[in-house]
Amino acid sequence: MPRVARPAPALAAVGEAPLTTLPGCGPKVAEKLAARGLLTLQDLWLQLPRQYEDRTRVTPIRLLQPGVAAQVEGRVEAVERGFRWRPLLRVAVGDESHATLVLRFFHFRAAQVSQFVPGTRLRCYGTPRPGQHGLEIVHPSYRVLDDADDAELGSSLDPVYPAIEGLGPASLRRLIGLALDRLPAAESLELLPADLRAALNLPSLRDALLTVHRPPADADVAALLAGRHPAQRRLALEELLAHHLSLRRQRLAQQAHAAPPLRGLALARQLRDRLPFALTGAQQRVFAEILADLAKPSPMLRLVQGDVGSGKTVVAALAAMLAVESGKQAALMAPTELLAEQHLNNLRGWLEPLGVRVAWLAGKVTGKARRDVLAAVASGDAQVVVGTHALMQEGVAFRDLALAIVDEQHRFGVHQRLALRDKGAAASPDAPGSVPHQLVMTATPIPRTLAMAAYADLDVSAIDELPPGRTPVQTVALSGERRPELVERIRTACAEGRQAYWVCTLIDDSDEVVAQAAQGTFEQLSAQLPSVRVGLVHGRMKPAEKQATMRAFKDGAIDLLVATTVIEVGVDVPNASLMVVENAERLGLAQLHQLRGRVGRGSAASSCVLLYQPPLSAMARERLATMRETNDGFVIAEKDLELRGPGELLGTRQTGLAGFRVADLARDADLLPQVHELGERLLVDAPDVAARIVARWVGGAVRYAGA
Ligand code: ADP
Ligand code: MG
Repeated sequence: MPRVARPAPALAAVGEAPLTTLPGCGPKVAEKLAARGLLTLQDLWLQLPRQYEDRTRVTPIRLLQPGVAAQVEGRVEAVERGFRWRPLLRVAVGDESHATLVLRFFHFRAAQVSQFVPGTRLRCYGTPRPGQHGLEIVHPSYRVLDDADDAELGSSLDPVYPAIEGLGPASLRRLIGLALDRLPAAESLELLPADLRAALNLPSLRDALLTVHRPPADADVAALLAGRHPAQRRLALEELLAHHLSLRRQRLAQQAHAAPPLRGLALARQLRDRLPFALTGAQQRVFAEILADLAKPSPMLRLVQGDVGSGKTVVAALAAMLAVESGKQAALMAPTELLAEQHLNNLRGWLEPLGVRVAWLAGKVTGKARRDVLAAVASGDAQVVVGTHALMQEGVAFRDLALAIVDEQHRFGVHQRLALRDKGAAASPDAPGSVPHQLVMTATPIPRTLAMAAYADLDVSAIDELPPGRTPVQTVALSGERRPELVERIRTACAEGRQAYWVCTLIDDSDEVVAQAAQGTFEQLSAQLPSVRVGLVHGRMKPAEKQATMRAFKDGAIDLLVATTVIEVGVDVPNASLMVVENAERLGLAQLHQLRGRVGRGSAASSCVLLYQPPLSAMARERLATMRETNDGFVIAEKDLELRGPGELLGTRQTGLAGFRVADLARDADLLPQVHELGERLLVDAPDVAARIVARWVGGAVRYAGA
């Protein structure tokens, strides 16, 4: 096997130099960069452009496409100003393709207005969107051209960097440029084995960085814009490798710890025998896998994947019983308060009859109540603790945490999961230095290759069977104009004793705006449906209010629940059999699937109506069609991957991975097999190189790798 390149330490250290060694980077600027985790020259080398602006050519206005950034050149045809109390400036620009584009400004200075005299020649750059009168660009960057001015077009793509608060884009570009000037020679930077680079025809790290930051004039523009340039692929490969190694190292480090073996099954049996249903075959199989892990003296690291409604919670509760039976504690953490509360209610209902004490800890538990809970957690009086992120906070100390369960793992980062684990480290009175077993659950099915990337540190179990008696949800897509029919349908359904969700979504997901929209819909539906008991939940309500409304819905005291996507994750009301999703065209497949999973949980035939605002983009049309065609989470996940084109990140929520700098799991999935092979090879042959790759890309996360 060829040797792995080892950089000369002295030269590699250039990358470690602090940013204050750059001219013009004083302590103030350095502080702003540090706030974004940028501390060394190397951090700036790896601060990669998020996109490129192509000013190398001019696009005729007629050929502009909505959503595709472009540069256009034309003459001002007309100018319109809004009223004084509502500043607005619209500039119509026409070109030789006999088409007109509107430039729209909400903030502008008087000097700007006077520039836009009809007949003036402009060159502008931006992303056109459909507006009132054809395409428009909001706040384009632009320059006025002299009539004589044959202003040269750009000769290469302009990199656009992720914004850094308090630092203008030009200053940032300048600093990155200065840092790049100090890039050492290729050999001293390289960490990837030469044979691999040759086999894949990938450039050196140095060349790749220079190409990506300063694309040469003859670079393949289309490939760069699409993120498929060999330079970007090379960086993506190393970044994916870094994440893979970091997860693998975490796993190795974790398994070097001790964990308390948990074996007693009496409580779990009691719980199982009292359940109002029999476990499905898949639940039994997964529980058996968990039992085998728990019996070992090293920590379980297991992910349970199961489609929405497959019954993960009860499996978690059964596992918790083993911890309790050993005189230890279990914790269950959920990403939203609504979901955590629901778990609390379920667990109390199941466990308290067995004499198991269940405690509740969320951010909103304060004052004396909080002190009491913390005391119960610390004394071990609380045997099972259910809560939100609050469980991970400082000041929460368990007496003896033996099992940490994280629900809807995709909503948390890997590091949050580990923070909960740390609550158990070294605390155990009879096994000092041991760590808890970890069980994480997710309803977001992800394709196998991606699962390997996102969960390289975990064993995976799948609950691949739904409880019996569920009927698949019938899904239809309806244009918003048909809303009145739908309201009628809800009236009929509720009169028959069915319950329904009406989900409000908006493109702006600020809590406040969505809450207002939900409030408006709530008022409107209440007025239109006097015979129907309508309730409202949104993220801006007090937890107690939310909980009371959810309870009323669950108890059947509310027929129609108007909600924001706060109900997206995990909420379980089996009698609800109708769901309406407004603006469904704006949601991604994963989110639609999660939402739809709220119905079809009981035995009644359920339906889901996806309301959309025409016109639909091709992508939205496909998404809605996919939702109509299948209820299978894995099919949906594959389709999702296929539809998300280059450039659209598979975000943290989907994978549990923090945002990548350059890699895109959907686009670069074909690199994963190499990443795995190379990763295993490095861990065995050159652990020091593996460590450096992790340090280079994953930085702050290294603490966990070494822990
Ligand atoms: P998810 O996997 O989406 O978290 P839940 O754990 O919320 O699903 O379970 C969904 C519903 O199915 C709950 O009401 C739960 O009590 C019920 N359930 C779980 N297992 C079974 C089973 N084997 N048979 C019938 N109902 C079940
Ligand atoms: Mg769940």
